[in-house]
Amino acid sequence: MSVEVVCREGGCRCNRVRFTVSMKPIITMACHCTGCQKMSSSAFSLSALVPQAGFTINQGEPVIGGLHGAARHYFCGYCMSWLFTRPQGIDDLINLRATMLDDASDYVPFMETWTSEKLPWASIPAIHSFAQLPESEEFLHLLQAYAEFAAAAANR
Ligand SMILES: [Zn+2]
Ligand SMILES: [Zn+2]
Repeated sequence: MSVEVVCREGGCRCNRVRFTVSMKPIITMACHCTGCQKMSSSAFSLSALVPQAGFTINQGEPVIGGLHGAARHYFCGYCMSWLFTRPQGIDDLINLRATMLDDASDYVPFMETWTSEKLPWASIPAIHSFAQLPESEEFLHLLQAYAEFAAAAANR
């Protein structure tokens, strides 16, 4: 399997924080949980899970926000945009809020989580849905399925 290097730029609402993503996401997701509804001020959050090794902050210093708990949610300290999350116990992946990219138009959410808490009208084209979260064993299959999905989309 060849690793294609891609570069995408992104930033917060005020552009005081700018970053580059140089690797493709390993999966794209939407989360309907009530916490994401609060933090995104919207119906759900959008995520692109990208390797930490492919994520570079070029400008600005994100600050911790949200509940300041085990999952570290990073925001722009000025405009307060929710930029990314470092999941609990995982240091090699960044859960980037996909809409912080300058162009996230092709990052269709492949899976959705916490549909048990979703707003009744909120429907998205995710292929895999979970009432809460997938089991970790199932998540490995999802990563493989996403790789095939993304490759097929790229070849269209
Ligand atoms: Zn900002
Ligand atoms: Zn959530």
